[in-house]
Parts: sequence; C-alpha cells; structure tokens
Amino acid sequence: MPVLRRLIQIVATVLSNAYWMFPHTKGIYQGTLKSMCVPGLNCYSCPAATGACPLGSLQSMIAGLRPAIKAGNYHFGAYIIGTLGLTGSLVGRMPCGWVCPFGLLQELIHKIPSPKFEIPKALTYIKYLFLALFIFILPALVIDDYSYGTTWFCKFICPAGTLEAGIPLIFLQPELKELIGALFYFNLTILIIFIVWMILSRRPFCRVACPLGAIYSLFNKHSVFKMIHDPDKCTHCQECYNNCPMGIKFYEGPNQYDCIRCLKCLHESCRFGAISYEIAGMPVIKPEDQGSGVRDHVITSKAPPWR
Ligand code: SF4
Ligand code: SF4
Repeated sequence: MPVLRRLIQIVATVLSNAYWMFPHTKGIYQGTLKSMCVPGLNCYSCPAATGACPLGSLQSMIAGLRPAIKAGNYHFGAYIIGTLGLTGSLVGRMPCGWVCPFGLLQELIHKIPSPKFEIPKALTYIKYLFLALFIFILPALVIDDYSYGTTWFCKFICPAGTLEAGIPLIFLQPELKELIGALFYFNLTILIIFIVWMILSRRPFCRVACPLGAIYSLFNKHSVFKMIHDPDKCTHCQECYNNCPMGIKFYEGPNQYDCIRCLKCLHESCRFGAISYEIAGMPVIKPEDQGSGVRDHVITSKAPPWR
C-alpha cells in the first residue's frame, strides 16, 4: 500500500504537469484541458500544468462575482463549487494524501534528516482563517474600477505558485526579471520558510495554511468514505500518531479534520486491528484484523521519527 500510494502520487503529479512543450513555447499551456480543475493544489500558471488549480479557480470566481452577476451569469462558478463539493462528499480530504503534487513534495522534503518538531494544534486552525479571508472575503470585497477583485491567496501567499510558476517563468522569459519587485521577494521568503518548515515538521503547509485542504476537511466527517476506529481493540500505543504524515492522534477519534485518508495508520502502524474504513456505511476490514487479538505484525518504528 505505501508503494501504491507513492506511485499514485507520482502519476497524479506527472499528469497534472504533462505539458512538456513549455521549453519550446516559453509560456503556459492554455488548451482545452485547462478549463478543468485538478483535485490537488497545482498552480495554473506552472508552465507544465495541464489543468486548473481548484483554489485559483475558486478565487477567480469570487473575484469576478459582481461582473458575472451584472451580466446575468448566475451559474458562474457552479462547476468549481460542484467539483469541490462532489470530491469532498465522496472522499473528504483524501486528494491531499493521494493526488496533490504539493503534498507529495512535502512528504519527500520531510525525509531530509534533521531534528523534527510537532506543529501546535492551535496553528492548524489558521488555514480556516486563510480560507475565509484570502479566498472569499478579500477577493469579494476589494475590487477595482471595473468591479473585479483579485486572487489574494495566489498573489500574496501561495508557495506552490512561487515554486511552480513564479520561478520557472522567470527562467523561461528573462524579460520578466525587470518586473521583479518586492512582491516576488515576499513570495520567495514565504516559499523558503515553508521549505525549511517541511524539513522540520510533517506537512506544515497542508496543516497550517492550505485553504484547499481546509475545504476538503469540512467533508471528512460526512463523506461516503470514512475511517473507523475500534476503541475496544485500541491500546493507545500511539504508533498511528508516530507514523501519521499529518500528526493525527487517531485514537482520539477517526475522521478528524486533518486526516488525508492516506491509510498509513491502517496498513503500516496499527498492529491491533483497531483501524479500518467504510464506504457508504459498508465496513471494509482487512482479513487479518477481523479477529480481536494482536496480529502477527512487525513494527518498524519505535520512536516518533515522523516520516
Ligand atoms: S496504532 Fe492502533 S492500537 Fe495503537 S493507538 Fe493507534 S489505533 Fe490504537
Ligand atoms: S490518521 Fe491515518 S489515514 Fe489519516 S492522515 Fe493519519 S495516517 Fe493517514
């Protein structure tokens, strides 16, 4: 399962960034596929990006809400909200764990050996503030002379945008160097802070700052796919916590907001069969977990290396 998940993450990253003509065209792909949203965070302006980022699309929708309504276009953005709502309703935050390129990057960078630090739980609520402020409130309320807002999160915060679009485009189009100003250096500083933080902590961007993860997380407790915890089998050994890429204490309850349904706790951590999942109310329990005893399982981690 860990190999399968990594494989799916890599395939999703490649498919989300499959436009390899960009060294020749020096620009971004703008074909038909670009009108579709990919499920994970992947910058629209990345030269190789084949689809649109749902977060960027959502901000553009909010920023253009007033002109759209004035023009009588009341269905504006239904596709984006529908895509996010359908994905969240089916699997909750699972795209973060399986198909988000920026999630994969964070997991790989975290493998760099260093002292590791846990993220205080209070910080994980910041992403909801970012969601409200940078995705909805500011794009809707701060408008120009033509009633258009701007994409605040993309413009001022998103480290994925700086990494995938800002930096590559400067190399592809050297004339852009003349336009580099304080905003670019501000974005670069945010990117560097997150990269260092990724080495030290488990998935800091997902847990603290990602508004897309914040949206999906709201569906975790109600989605078709749900995790199950069996308190009768749980010994509170904390192996699930030690191995969880999101630092979740599964024994405190399944389907917590930050659970990305990576299934690492199920397949790699819990040796007591206390973790399973259900699809539309139908439990899926591994055959070796169907008894009540400890299964024959070798624990490979003893201390919390947070890998
Ligand atoms: S690994 Fe299993 S038994 Fe141990 S605390 Fe987590 S759910 Fe409970
Ligand atoms: S609780 Fe389990 S499924 Fe959820 S993120 Fe942690 S390891 Fe993955």
